[in-house]
Amino acid sequence: MKTVSTLLDAEWRERYRRISSLNIRSSIYDLTNRCNLRCKGCFFFSSGEHHVQEEMDIRRWEAFIDREKIRGVNLAILIGGEPTLCMDRLEAFYRRVPTYCATNGLIKVPRDRFPDMMVGISLWGGGEDEKILRGRDTFAVSSKNYEGDPCAYYLYTLTPRQVGKTEPVIRRIRDAGLKVHLQLLSNDEGVDGFSWRPEELSDLRFELDEMLDHYPRTVISCRYYHEIITTGLMQGRRFGWRECPSVTESLDHRQPPVRRLIHFYRWAADLQTVHRCCTSATRDCSTCKDGAAHMSWVMVNKRDHMNATRDLHNWIEVYEMFAKLYKFIPW
Ligand code: SF4
Ligand code: SF4
Repeated sequence: MKTVSTLLDAEWRERYRRISSLNIRSSIYDLTNRCNLRCKGCFFFSSGEHHVQEEMDIRRWEAFIDREKIRGVNLAILIGGEPTLCMDRLEAFYRRVPTYCATNGLIKVPRDRFPDMMVGISLWGGGEDEKILRGRDTFAVSSKNYEGDPCAYYLYTLTPRQVGKTEPVIRRIRDAGLKVHLQLLSNDEGVDGFSWRPEELSDLRFELDEMLDHYPRTVISCRYYHEIITTGLMQGRRFGWRECPSVTESLDHRQPPVRRLIHFYRWAADLQTVHRCCTSATRDCSTCKDGAAHMSWVMVNKRDHMNATRDLHNWIEVYEMFAKLYKFIPW
């Protein structure tokens, strides 16, 4: 292993310095068990994670968030269900801790109440895929709700049917004055035609690189991320349960211990139950394509990227990408 100063020139050292001081401590919260959609492949509903008694008392939410803050959380990632169905809980988080809201975009987060909260809007491909998987073309609504919003971006979940067709979607996002982060469908409910084949993944990798080259101001990504999510490989190691960094701390009994997100928890909406990880408790880890888990996997394994300058550049780019997506550094 070499040192940062021998591997990086002055410009990269400055980029490294900017991210290495961030000390991100994230946890994930199911804000509600309800949603105004029922997407096929939604990890939350398909794994039964909504089968808890939702806490309805806002004062209990406030006390819980205060405890989380004391626990050291400096990034609350709100998912569900659909968080915008519970604006009071959203506000309770937003007023206490840096907050990120993942939404399907059908209900607009009022910017007078949440002026600078980062919003990630889910999008599952083009209009036809969205109708098959989600029952409606959400882009038509969400793009009007968030057009030109500097604190919102699309979380574009790519399906095998999107290979070769991503450009028109990215162009529409650019034309709506928004940015996009790309991730891959894990097909938790085994919908026919939506599971990945190796040749589709390798074609997609090159398509993603091309999109990044053509739309560098719209696509928040980097080539190394494309490599990692399409191959599932990092420095010769394969992503899966033995490697995953995004496991709830109290449920992580892996031996030998794994490099992981410090104090990471994923809480259910009863504020007592914890779920196994950042995504579905029933998902087969060997098929997991979760983008945030793959990014975190890179981030917690800095030491393995300290052998060559190119590797450390890759590590920095993934870390910067994560930090931009959660508003720790500007776009
Ligand atoms: S919008 Fe999100 S939470 Fe709601 S059903 Fe779809 S994937 Fe699940
Ligand atoms: S399903 Fe994915 S995120 Fe969850 S433990 Fe397995 S590999 Fe990690």
